[in-house]
Amino acid sequence: MPYKQNQNYKGVVVFGAPGTGKTTIAKVLLAEIKNGKYVEASDVVINPAMFFKSKLPLKEVEFIALITRIYGKSFGGKIPREDARNFFTYLKNKYSSAVIAKALTRIHNKKLRNKFLIVAGIRGYKNSVYFKNNGYLVIYLKTPDGHSTNRLAKRESFSKKSAERERDIEERIFSTNKVEKVAHLSFDTAGVSKREIVSQVKALIHNRECKRCVNSSVNFSSNINKSGLCDTCEKYEANFSKKQLEKERKLLLSLKGTGKNKYDAMVGISGGKDSTATLYEVKRMGFTPLAFSLNTGYYPKHIFKRARAVAKELGVDYVEIDVRKYIRPVDRLSFKKTAELYGKKDSQELREEFRRWYTEGRRHYSIKCEHTIPFIRTCQLCRRIIVRAYFGEALKRDISAVIIGINEWAGLSQDAESKKFVFSAIRKLQPLKNKPSVHVVHLPFLFQRKIKDTNKILKRLGWKIPKGEALIESNSNSCLFARAAENRARRLLGFHPDTTRLAREVTVGFISKEQARKALAKIHNSKDSVRAVLERAKVI
Ligand SMILES: [Zn+2]
Repeated sequence: MPYKQNQNYKGVVVFGAPGTGKTTIAKVLLAEIKNGKYVEASDVVINPAMFFKSKLPLKEVEFIALITRIYGKSFGGKIPREDARNFFTYLKNKYSSAVIAKALTRIHNKKLRNKFLIVAGIRGYKNSVYFKNNGYLVIYLKTPDGHSTNRLAKRESFSKKSAERERDIEERIFSTNKVEKVAHLSFDTAGVSKREIVSQVKALIHNRECKRCVNSSVNFSSNINKSGLCDTCEKYEANFSKKQLEKERKLLLSLKGTGKNKYDAMVGISGGKDSTATLYEVKRMGFTPLAFSLNTGYYPKHIFKRARAVAKELGVDYVEIDVRKYIRPVDRLSFKKTAELYGKKDSQELREEFRRWYTEGRRHYSIKCEHTIPFIRTCQLCRRIIVRAYFGEALKRDISAVIIGINEWAGLSQDAESKKFVFSAIRKLQPLKNKPSVHVVHLPFLFQRKIKDTNKILKRLGWKIPKGEALIESNSNSCLFARAAENRARRLLGFHPDTTRLAREVTVGFISKEQARKALAKIHNSKDSVRAVLERAKVI
């Protein structure tokens, strides 16, 4: 097998707008990566192709074969920027939009097999997609507009105006900005140092991923062990017990008919696939449920409409509950801190500050403990409020089961005597000794459902995937807060903030690693800043 030193990727490809320092970064990487080979697209593909211009083959495969054959030969010096660009466009039109990427990967396979390829001087969205799909790490560099035109003007001795024009042409022809959406990493080179960029790229190249799930060493709070498994998967493999779930299934059935009023269970729904299948199952088990959606103020409105329609379809009463009354001062502080951090400009200091908060928050994360330290992990911050709402709302209605369609365990505890870890599908909430308890049930995990099973249930119901949604999604699809934070958090952390959650769905076997990867690779656009979303929701 080639690429032994760097198992995760075959190489790294540096994309970016003109004047963002692509070549510089590529060269620093070359100095720091063992067995690296630096390749400039224009030297290896454009120059030779220009040399053969009058007799270029008709077919793309033949062109690629020609370019590969003559690799290593010299075809003159640096081509003027405009000529290179025009010829780039010429090749793209003559062959396919990914022709450069195809030629470079071919050269890699044929001539540089044992090298780790470092590519710069390449443009074009389709090329970035091709590289990504073929196992290369794609990075994208950007700078605020003024910054890059200044650099470009200086380097190419352009006037500022023509530098601006140059940038706009590049953007129009090569959809440079779109590359950011597919890139594994993107950096604002005006705010982040070269050293930091290189260290993050190296972390991904030398990253170790859990054999089973999508947790990896890039996430500073997850640990990959000698077994090749992350902490969570290792614990799960050693301790998961079907017996425990059998006990809990009995417990759930024993809650049937225990409601003092009309309902004996509350079922949380969003109208999405997991919750719809769950509501259907709860009904079929013989419960008389009340369906509900929690409103934090920052979920998109269509969710409530959709949820109401699902409940109606299944003949279940439905209520929308505003949970903002469960927000405590510390939660409000957390929202404020989150808005503040996300509002800052990209910089080395921010990156460090953000990571510090991210790690710090984890230590204080417990629903029970009366923490006083704010918390900036968007989804967990929200979950703390929501779990309190589960308890409060169930208690108010004399209901002791809150059932939700979450595909992983509800609780992980350690047995004091045997020291074994217990993965539970039901979590008992009893924060007050003199009040009754409420059980939060993760139904899909309790019944060990896989995504196939959920799909079968939905098919029986004639349910269709809501328009514009994939079957597996990160939280940002159904939450404006998560959506506004997603891209920035990914940039500041080096991994998608939803990784841990989706990793667990892989750990329990609900979805495959590939499915999780796909969901995590998708970045949603948000028109709004985190602050704007939270202000509109009136939580800050
Ligand atoms: Zn794992």
